[in-house]
Amino acid sequence: MACQQFDSVATILEIPVNDRDRMKFPKRALTVAVPVPMDNGTTHVFSGYRVQHHLALGPTKGGIRYHPDVTLGEVAALAMWMSWKCALTGLPYGGAKGGVTVDPGALSLGEKERLTRRFTQELIPFIGPQVDIPAPDVGTNEQTMAWMMDTYSTHAGHSVPGVVTGKPVVIGGSLGRREATGRGVAYLIYRAMDSIGMKEGSATAVIQGFGNVGSIAAWSLAKYGVKVVGVSDAMGGVYNPAGLDLAALEAWVASNRTVVGFPGGDAVSNAELLLLPCDILVPAALERQITAENAGKIQCRILAEGANGPTTPEADDILAQRPEIFVIPDVLCNSGGVVVSYFEWVQDLQSFFWSESEVVDKLFRILEGAFTQTLQLSRKQKITMRMAALSLGVRRVYDARKARGVFP
Ligand code: NAD
Repeated sequence: MACQQFDSVATILEIPVNDRDRMKFPKRALTVAVPVPMDNGTTHVFSGYRVQHHLALGPTKGGIRYHPDVTLGEVAALAMWMSWKCALTGLPYGGAKGGVTVDPGALSLGEKERLTRRFTQELIPFIGPQVDIPAPDVGTNEQTMAWMMDTYSTHAGHSVPGVVTGKPVVIGGSLGRREATGRGVAYLIYRAMDSIGMKEGSATAVIQGFGNVGSIAAWSLAKYGVKVVGVSDAMGGVYNPAGLDLAALEAWVASNRTVVGFPGGDAVSNAELLLLPCDILVPAALERQITAENAGKIQCRILAEGANGPTTPEADDILAQRPEIFVIPDVLCNSGGVVVSYFEWVQDLQSFFWSESEVVDKLFRILEGAFTQTLQLSRKQKITMRMAALSLGVRRVYDARKARGVFP
């Protein structure tokens, strides 16, 4: 999907064929074996990956995913998308991504810690505040980042908070980082509503995925006056056309670890959830959820891609024939996370920390700029919002590589 999208953008930008492979191939990719002593006395060897897509603009940046479907190819695609996202928002980074093929839900806390520390140990020659800076993604969180930072710092002999972002605030994390992605998703939805003349007071939203991105997006949308009528997680979903009680839902999830069974709504499957009538649909789980099968049937007016790669290229072709749907593409929609990760890194390097309102204010300014540029380009060149956002990102990386010459 990432390569297909790149090829389309390269054609729009008229990038010479001879330059395209350099932009497509990841600069570096590392595969590691991660042996972990398990609670039952056995040792299990997991596969871990880290891919750095390009080095033209600075160190690389991107999340670490723990999920059973993680492969080197998936990580490489996610790294490429990170490159375009960082360039679109003007951050001095190339894209990276990493992951371990594991179901984190099946591990005890101790197993997760041993896995994370050993994986970090294997990555030490490959990461660092000036080299490559991991962050949380699906299946990882602040605690994972704390273990990574601690393992790296122990090796360095001093605290190195800038090696990861998305850490707990107490060890150099940024205020507002945990909320940044979902908050950014909601801000961009608000801007899209404004662009198409939708009134937030009567708008409804359906959100797939109730993790970091989905749950914060739900709360932030509610603050804008949007009614959240459906949410789901890996186990299934709940729907209430009158609006879900988010506080009660969060309490339910805290004790049951899933939205399934929540008494304040009716059960729906993930497939059904995506087809529910709503004004705003937010896929905030995994890739390839909006496909050729369901793209013609989704009923929203704004498709806000909280997740990375939730829409396949075939589905994109169908959406291009449905101008009534305003798509906020992933590289723009979920970029709030990496923007505040950048703020965290800057604060760590300077050992000078900002208030949450400074963080949010600077975040919204960057998102506003990226949204406006993308919308203007999309309208001017009559291309989709995805092609416009990717064009802006790819163009910046291409120009940087051209300016530097053959090495990066
Ligand atoms: P998370 O692990 O906190 O939450 C993921 C959620 O998706 C969980 O509720 C999980 O149950 C649900 N889920 C998993 N498989 C599913 C399926 N098949 N159907 C429906 N729901 C499913 O992860 P997250 O950090 O919220 O990331 C979600 C998406 O957002 C990913 O695509 C990630 O790459 C992207 N993203 C995250 C960040 C960030 O800052 N965390 C930033 C940018 C993009």
